[in-house]
Amino acid sequence: MITFKNSRDLEKMRHAGRIVADILKLMRDMVRPGIDTLTLDEAAENLVNKEGAKPAFKGYKVPWVPVPFPGTICASVNDEIVHGIPSRGRILQEGDIISIDTGASIDGYYGDAACTFAVGKISENRQRLLDITFESLHVGIRAVRSGATIGDIGYAIEKIVIPSGFGLVRDYAGHGIGRRLHEAPQVPNYGTPGSGVTLRPGMTICVEPMVMSGAEEVKNLMDQWTVVTADGGDAAHFEHTLLVTDDGAEILTPWE
Ligand code: MG
Repeated sequence: MITFKNSRDLEKMRHAGRIVADILKLMRDMVRPGIDTLTLDEAAENLVNKEGAKPAFKGYKVPWVPVPFPGTICASVNDEIVHGIPSRGRILQEGDIISIDTGASIDGYYGDAACTFAVGKISENRQRLLDITFESLHVGIRAVRSGATIGDIGYAIEKIVIPSGFGLVRDYAGHGIGRRLHEAPQVPNYGTPGSGVTLRPGMTICVEPMVMSGAEEVKNLMDQWTVVTADGGDAAHFEHTLLVTDDGAEILTPWE
């Protein structure tokens, strides 16, 4: 069901979004060669607790995986696309890229955002992947306004990513958000202009392009959570929670 938020709902969503943005800013400060991804997760969880909020991903269940997701962040390194599990043994190396996706709820409302960070100095190819994926997030955001459609967002993203020679992750999509982490509608990172649900003021959605350097095929690791590129190429992921307004989008997770 698509839900529309009134000004009281939006106060709470802005609050949740600010907390999520603060987590990503903290992650940006902490990411460096030698740090393990569980240390990042612990710091994220501490911040969420200090704010009186709840981690949105920790304990998240899906029917096809026997164990709930254990982290406050998803920490996906290099060929890992999304849902990487934070671990003491996963130590970041100079030249890695790490996608950190995180969500939090406060007063019953959710925020959700992601950013791929460079660990130290990265290769030109990896930098280009990050640049294109970040740009695709913003062309997607610029397609958001009252009267536009879900297909307009996906089309805008696809039009940047595919000509660049990169692949799109088509198995995972953005989504509505509000009192639940995942609400209708789905927001795919590809589409046909004018197709799909029409955006209206008060809708809140997550736009989150996931891009890979190689072929458009993904697989799951043995832990059943971590999604990786099938060919071992790199992946990047950027996300904002947005409010649809009359003339555009308000970013509710201002992490940049
Ligand atoms: Mg999301």
